[in-house]
Amino acid sequence: MKCPQCGAEDVIEIKNKVEDIEIDFFSCHRCEEKWWDRSGESVSLREVLDIVRKSKS
Ligand SMILES: [Zn+2]
Repeated sequence: MKCPQCGAEDVIEIKNKVEDIEIDFFSCHRCEEKWWDRSGESVSLREVLDIVRKSKS
């Protein structure tokens, strides 16, 4: 996994699962860019919070 911001490969990956939806969290060591990935598609924090909120209702 490469950082979309600076291209570094020094990226942390944290696997998450909300209900049945797999949402992985990524964080770049070099530029501190953070992003989420939902089954291969990058999603914004807003979308992630939306999914979490819906899963709880
Ligand atoms: Zn980066």
